[in-house]
Amino acid sequence: MDISKIIISLIMVSSLIILAGCGSDDDSNELTAVTTTTTLPPPSQVVRSSQAGCYVNGLNSNTGFGEVGMTFNDAYYDQKFGEEINLQRSFFSNIPANVYVLYEPSIQDKNAYASSNGDIYFGYHMFYYSIANYGELAVAGILAHEWGHRVQQVRFGKMENPLAELEADAFSGFYMALGKSWAWSSIQGYYANVYATGDYNFHSPNHHGTSEQRLSAAYLGVAVAQDVAQNQMQLTYEDLHSIFLTEINSNILGLQVRTKSKSTLPIDIKNDVRLEIKSIVKGESLGKNIELPESYSPDNSSHLWPQFSFNQ
Ligand SMILES: [Zn+2]
Repeated sequence: MDISKIIISLIMVSSLIILAGCGSDDDSNELTAVTTTTTLPPPSQVVRSSQAGCYVNGLNSNTGFGEVGMTFNDAYYDQKFGEEINLQRSFFSNIPANVYVLYEPSIQDKNAYASSNGDIYFGYHMFYYSIANYGELAVAGILAHEWGHRVQQVRFGKMENPLAELEADAFSGFYMALGKSWAWSSIQGYYANVYATGDYNFHSPNHHGTSEQRLSAAYLGVAVAQDVAQNQMQLTYEDLHSIFLTEINSNILGLQVRTKSKSTLPIDIKNDVRLEIKSIVKGESLGKNIELPESYSPDNSSHLWPQFSFNQ
């Protein structure tokens, strides 16, 4: 073990970490770190969960239980993952997150979490399973979903499900388009399969939304990213939150709720996008393709990434 890891372990062990990330419905669902009592510095910390995380189906009593560390035991993937973390850290500016690897006890426990203390735990099994089944872009999509929860935790406080999960999906789609320049046609398969297979928490639709709702929320994020790129207009986290909540409530969940009037939203979701969202929710479509403008490149577009606003 190298010295930095020992130091990190000591720092982590010295504090009790409360997780309240994905899907915590009430305070009793918080995750509590449990430290070991060995005399030598432990290699990592143990976290224990009484709740499902973002993806696991919640049927396994070991859910969320595992050690935390810093490596996927593969230099290539560690480097790639580190690059992705740095990119998302820049994209989600002023939304801090320390990202750790969670060593789930088994593949059945594969998961990812965002904690209100500022940590994101990306499961080791989750990582390799996702790459094997959906490719490397799936890792970026999952991490962005977790960073979306961090946005909620930092800016908006506790949110109820399925709204919190659907908005995190919208943030994920928004990042994949604006931060990575993916067209919907390239990432559609990932979102559709991830949400539809049942691999990723599909046993509790009330908790996370149905697969169609989740797919349409990701689509919404991509549509908003396209608008941002086309209009060269940077949005605040509050703007995005208003847009996402308005659309998710009215067009994805079909609720009649009081939301900001359309005229106060910084961008107007196009009617054809709304119709497409409704078609996805009904299971009639996987979403017509959305592409960013040909001239768009994430490399010189950081001025369009979400902005932090202090005055709200
Ligand atoms: Zn989640």
